[in-house]
Amino acid sequence: MTTIADILAAVDRLAPFRLAEAWDNVGLVLGDPARQVRRLLVSLDVTEAVCDEADRAGAEVILAHHPLIFTGLERLTTHTPTGRLALRLAGAGRAVIAAHTNLDAAEGGLCDILAGLMGVDDAKPLEAASGTPRYKVVVFVPEADLAAVQAAAFGAGAGRIGDYTECGFSAAGAGTFLPGEGAEPAVGTKGERSRVAERRFETLVDGRCLGAVLAAVARAQPYEEPAIDVYPLHAPRAGAGQGRVGRLSDCRTLAQLADNVKETLDARAIHVAGDPETVVETVGVCTGSGGGLAGAVAEAGCQAFVTGELKYHEVQDLAARGVGVILGGHYRTERVALEAWVPRLAAALDVEVRMSESERGVIQMR
Ligand SMILES: [Zn+2]
Repeated sequence: MTTIADILAAVDRLAPFRLAEAWDNVGLVLGDPARQVRRLLVSLDVTEAVCDEADRAGAEVILAHHPLIFTGLERLTTHTPTGRLALRLAGAGRAVIAAHTNLDAAEGGLCDILAGLMGVDDAKPLEAASGTPRYKVVVFVPEADLAAVQAAAFGAGAGRIGDYTECGFSAAGAGTFLPGEGAEPAVGTKGERSRVAERRFETLVDGRCLGAVLAAVARAQPYEEPAIDVYPLHAPRAGAGQGRVGRLSDCRTLAQLADNVKETLDARAIHVAGDPETVVETVGVCTGSGGGLAGAVAEAGCQAFVTGELKYHEVQDLAARGVGVILGGHYRTERVALEAWVPRLAAALDVEVRMSESERGVIQMR
């Protein structure tokens, strides 16, 4: 039987959580990983309407693009919309998984999908994913303490790589030190050179649990002055990152491209800036908010940027640089891409996966 932990592992394979921006809050945000699942509901947001739909469908878990809980909560009460939703879901025994900037950035994720729908060949990231930093933590301990240190590190979340847990490496060697007069050495004697049969234990640690791992390892090792090194790692895979840039499969004017966007998104209206007759060969694409990518779009030599939303002055700046801007709406650009991603998720899981039919964008055209 599939559990929520199995679903998390499957989502992590399709859209690695470590690709999420450091400010994001992805993964299991509510619920019990051991809970068995038969039905999964996918939505952009967790709303009362989506919760009603989960009730009707008997979906034990909601996979939402936008995290229900973004920042640290100090209280979970019915005084806030988030608190009401979380308490309602928890009361019904449901879980919520967030796949947000990791899903935007992943190869085959939302930005790749939207680029494909625009007819962009060979899309590449506009910016490499900064992702969640990862570290290699190295600990030197007496041989007898290796098992305790490994257990402490793994227990705090170290050593997870894809579907594998408790990944680590250890090598034997000799540690040397000379305890000073003020020292209280766990091994050896003050004023005497010591040589100890040690193990160098190293393991991979996600930035989210680095503090917990270091604290656990420091408690488990015996030395008065722990020998722990932390190395930051350069991470993400080359194909993953924010936004996409690529060449259109055929040359179009900005006006034609805008028509394509409008049709693809099934939008009543979209916003366009720039000369409609501009010939577009290279286009930048970003689902949701393209804010912060305007510089990369201009540098990549794009003649147009298709995204959900931008600030007025970002549009003005791009237009002044000769880059046409097409804004399809935050909701529409993400919803259409998410709908196209859902079959991939369903193929990776042994549960019933359905896209929410009840949710509507919070902003409506009139
Ligand atoms: Zn969004």
